[in-house]
Amino acid sequence: MSFNYYQPTELIFGRGRVQELGQVARRFGNRTLLVTVAETPVLAPQFARVKRVLAEAGLEVAHYDGVIPNPTVGSIDAGARLAREFGVQSVIGLGGGSSMDSAKAIAVAATHEGSCWDYLFYKQPPTERTLPIIAVSTTSGTGSQVTQVAVITDPGTRDKSAIYHSNVYPKVSIVDPELMVSLPPSVTAATGFDVFCHAFEATLHPNCNPLGRLFAWEAIGRVIEQLPKALADGGDLAARESMALADTLGGYSIASAGVTLPHGMGMAIGGMYPKVAHGVALAIVYPEFVRFTCQSAVPHFARLARLLNASMASESDVTAAEACAGLVESFLVSIGLRLGLNDFGVPEAELPALAKQCMVLPDYEGNPRVATLSEMESLLRASYSVSVPA
Ligand code: NAD
Repeated sequence: MSFNYYQPTELIFGRGRVQELGQVARRFGNRTLLVTVAETPVLAPQFARVKRVLAEAGLEVAHYDGVIPNPTVGSIDAGARLAREFGVQSVIGLGGGSSMDSAKAIAVAATHEGSCWDYLFYKQPPTERTLPIIAVSTTSGTGSQVTQVAVITDPGTRDKSAIYHSNVYPKVSIVDPELMVSLPPSVTAATGFDVFCHAFEATLHPNCNPLGRLFAWEAIGRVIEQLPKALADGGDLAARESMALADTLGGYSIASAGVTLPHGMGMAIGGMYPKVAHGVALAIVYPEFVRFTCQSAVPHFARLARLLNASMASESDVTAAEACAGLVESFLVSIGLRLGLNDFGVPEAELPALAKQCMVLPDYEGNPRVATLSEMESLLRASYSVSVPA
């Protein structure tokens, strides 16, 4: 056995620990940029609490509240302008993946020439001038609080891509489940399923190492057990805490391994149809991905099937793997996410273009079975219109 494991983010995990944010931010200087979505009545108490904590630590805070789900180049570059004007020494992303990723990309764009889009993984790397990033997660989904990834969309080209570099790992992350109790069921389900996908795809990825595998299977088990509880009662702090841990473990596993085919497809769907939330895009394609891949990684799919349904323990690996797509479908039904592309008004005529876009990022190449362009289109067609059993 031989592998490397690298994880530079300091993790502060636990109920009420957002209280430490002010002291954390002070380590990097007294001027900071708080990056969030626009305030809503639901988010107002959370924002007020964070601002109070920052003020108590004597910080001068500029608040950029222009984050949008599936953040765009324009929304990030606007935040970077504010960061420069205010002369901040750190950037705090408070929110879900959209806010944390915006904070990461702002930390790059504020200190480098050009736009955040110039620092995508296949262009030039962000340097150590990148401002220190502090992530405070309020969804249990993306793992962004512990990853080197910032996802950005260019609405002009309908392309969703990413900055991917160790300089965008947050310096510190605070994961406080108390911040997650206000999540509505729809976001709880979509983000929770994202955790499941990260973890499972990491186990399939050729770069997955024994630590990543350990984290990933633990995360999958927690999602299957705890996501229904968090959905049944959003105020169930034990379930929220377990999902927050699963999310962080999923983040560790993708940061060290990577994701595969469904994420490549999900990114393309989000880029072309930004109204489809990231976790929902994954839910749309997952059953067909499982059907397409299960015989190419039988032990993985058999293990997943047995976690989803204990009665699979008595079946052979091949039978359990074959049953996995149906079990994933049932799980999606149970969390209200059995959906098709046509539920979001995706024009059927655009499926060939979408199939091409699914192959822009390298994720699909890490799948145990690599799809051709025509197979990709077939996967999309099969994910277009789905029926939910009554
Ligand atoms: P999100 O950040 O877009 O948030 C979804 C919605 O939930 C928003 O309207 C937000 O305001 C609301 N919300 C967030 N926290 C809330 C709370 N506690 N209470 C009430 N409402 C709340 O959703 P997300 O799924 O966390 O992030 C998705 C983005 O992250 C996508 O752009 C995706 O591509 C990206 N992503 C990044 C990584 C990474 O490693 N950087 C990994 C996966 C996905």
